Amino acid sequence: RTVYVNGEYLPEEEAKVSIFDRGFLMADGVYEVTSVLDGKLVDFEGHAKRLERSLGELEMKAPCTTGELLEIHRELVARNGIEEGMIYLQITRGSPGDRDFVFPDPETTAPTIVLFTQNKPGLADNPVAKQGISVISIEDIRWGRRDIKTVQLLYPSMGKMMAKKAGADDAWLVEDGKVTEGTSNNAYIVKGGKIITRALSNDILHGITRAAVLRFAREAQMEVEERSFSIEEAQGADEAFFTSASAFVMPVVKIDGAEVGTGKPGPVAARLREIYLDESRKTAI
Ligand code: PLP
Repeated sequence: RTVYVNGEYLPEEEAKVSIFDRGFLMADGVYEVTSVLDGKLVDFEGHAKRLERSLGELEMKAPCTTGELLEIHRELVARNGIEEGMIYLQITRGSPGDRDFVFPDPETTAPTIVLFTQNKPGLADNPVAKQGISVISIEDIRWGRRDIKTVQLLYPSMGKMMAKKAGADDAWLVEDGKVTEGTSNNAYIVKGGKIITRALSNDILHGITRAAVLRFAREAQMEVEERSFSIEEAQGADEAFFTSASAFVMPVVKIDGAEVGTGKPGPVAARLREIYLDESRKTAI
């Protein structure tokens, strides 16, 4: 696989980053995951805008323009022959050559930028979406700026391990009795045809897929309510699902061992997945 690091396209085994990189030492970095359908980028603009916001919130400089970023994404897709899959992009505050909590001077320390592709043939046709997945609930003990897409992913990673040990597929995070989001996705329930998902704030990541799915739902005259819900309410809902750039719309059929609705993926999630994939294929660049 050809990867990109700081201006160069290299075979992955030749790509190197300093041991003093603040991404490595302090999780001082941000990332984006953009999906690829039919060899094209889904919602590139949305991801580029969120990246810019994440960088701004952390007082980090962008290493290149959005236009250049698009070119790098396209070049990697082409070089690696990706038809379906993902592109991972990470920008860290770079390597000041020593360990120090204080941010280095951006005039003397350039950010580190790395991109690589993940080839996932059959991503859109994922059979798991026809069965749905199970989640457990765990306490949300992450920091208070979950709206910034940082590479501090230890707790989400632990959450996925807790789910695995409990025989489930993933975890939903709960704070003050209400679901915030999934370990790596936004959470929804459906009641009486109404789509319910937590409102945007610093408590959750502002999902690019969330924005698109809510827009498509409203355009299709489906009712949307942005508010918090509890695990109990989700267990008693007609349907549950999550969204993310890499899983699109994924039905959740079991929460803490209790079946949601019929225990099978419901019609609203199935329809939203179809609309999302159709529209994304049309607008991918
Ligand atoms: N919430 C969290 C915590 C995430 O890590 C992600 C994606 O990685 C999402 C939500 C979904 O965001 P997006 O739809 O932009 O992939």
